[in-house]
Amino acid sequence: MNDRIPGFGTLAVHAGAQPDPTTGARATPIYQTTSFVFNDADHAASLFGLQSFGNIYTRITNPTTAVLEERVAALEGGTAALAVASGHAAQLVVFQQLLQPGDEFIASRKLYGGSINQFSHAFKSFGWNVVWADPDDVPSFERAVTDKTKAIFIESIANPAGSITDIEAVAAVARKAGVPLIVDNTLATPYLIKPIDHGADIVVHSLTKFLGGHGNSLGGIIVDAGTFDWSKGNKYPVLSEPRPEYHGIKLQETFGNFAFAIACRVLGLRDLGPALSPFNAFLIQTGIETLPLRMQRHSDNAKAVAEWLSAHPKVAAVNYSGLSDNRYHTLARKYAPKGAGAVFTFSLKGGYDAGVSLVSNLKLFSHLANVGDTRSLVIHPASTTHSQLDDEAKTRSGAGPDVVRLSVGIEDKEDLIADLEQALNA
Ligand SMILES: *Cc1c(COP(=O)(O)O)cnc(C)c1O
Repeated sequence: MNDRIPGFGTLAVHAGAQPDPTTGARATPIYQTTSFVFNDADHAASLFGLQSFGNIYTRITNPTTAVLEERVAALEGGTAALAVASGHAAQLVVFQQLLQPGDEFIASRKLYGGSINQFSHAFKSFGWNVVWADPDDVPSFERAVTDKTKAIFIESIANPAGSITDIEAVAAVARKAGVPLIVDNTLATPYLIKPIDHGADIVVHSLTKFLGGHGNSLGGIIVDAGTFDWSKGNKYPVLSEPRPEYHGIKLQETFGNFAFAIACRVLGLRDLGPALSPFNAFLIQTGIETLPLRMQRHSDNAKAVAEWLSAHPKVAAVNYSGLSDNRYHTLARKYAPKGAGAVFTFSLKGGYDAGVSLVSNLKLFSHLANVGDTRSLVIHPASTTHSQLDDEAKTRSGAGPDVVRLSVGIEDKEDLIADLEQALNA
């Protein structure tokens, strides 16, 4: 019995948590404190020198946030995790450890619109150069590899159309190139897809979406798979070379298979500062307790809505990999056998105007720029999240002018379908 490996549902409730040693509180308390008292001067010095683990200051570690980190690391099958203030902060902190000015990384061109912006503009100003590849044409990743390539970045289930990326095929390209594969697993969550099982070296999430799950808290997380050898080829000096700010220690040599998570914490979070509030960590870990129940319901509802839309005369096409005629269906059955998630797009025969009008006539679906809430959400990407792209790039990233994106919630599916019906008939 003691040797049993707990299942996903058990880990979602318990991983990382125990009754509070001081008060017996069963739910993890919110340690809403900026700082922590040292035992003595030696203790303080050893914490600052990374000779022992412990809390100093909430920008770097916090006991409430630590439970969230341990829980997500357990659910993803990683060695360690680091929670930060948002999904975008997670991406910033990851790339800060990997790239020097002038370096390149290869990214799928089917990404969350905000990530396309972050990579194209903000990262460019740091001298970090994105090279785009097509997730539907895996050899395009291989063709993009140069001697400056330091990482490959994909989404497991990709925004906005919910397409499925062949993670194992891209992981093979990354291994051959000697660079880590980073997978944004936000839309899938580890309940539907565990990228580390398919060759990912680093997993990132916007906790804001399905992991938190209730549309009330921003957060992000970085999971270290512990699989990548950072000393190979001297490509990652942050991890393999002596750190001047920590008495010359080498992070990989000292911390082994969780060195990347440590680097993100003691360099990224410490120096860039995007710490998660302990209050948000509390709300997000409470959300994670019901992750398996919610994700199954999200996926089942999305499939029912997608099937209903496919049969509607005003609908031109439905892009949901959970439907058997979808081009990603074979990949969905391989990578996400429990369900294809909540997010998908469909297009209307009436084009741009019909898309805008549908969005404004829906009542139960909220028109807003988010996914992964318990509530059903709708957006017209071409006029909002992807509006900064030119028409060709919009269509290439699955956000053409006639496309509407849904994030199907956990309400009763009959009510969701009735709302779509009245809005399509309006
Ligand atoms: C929302 C989102 C992000 C960014 O996360 P924030 O928490 O909003 O910073 C990154 N990737 C995907 C797939 C997302 O949906």
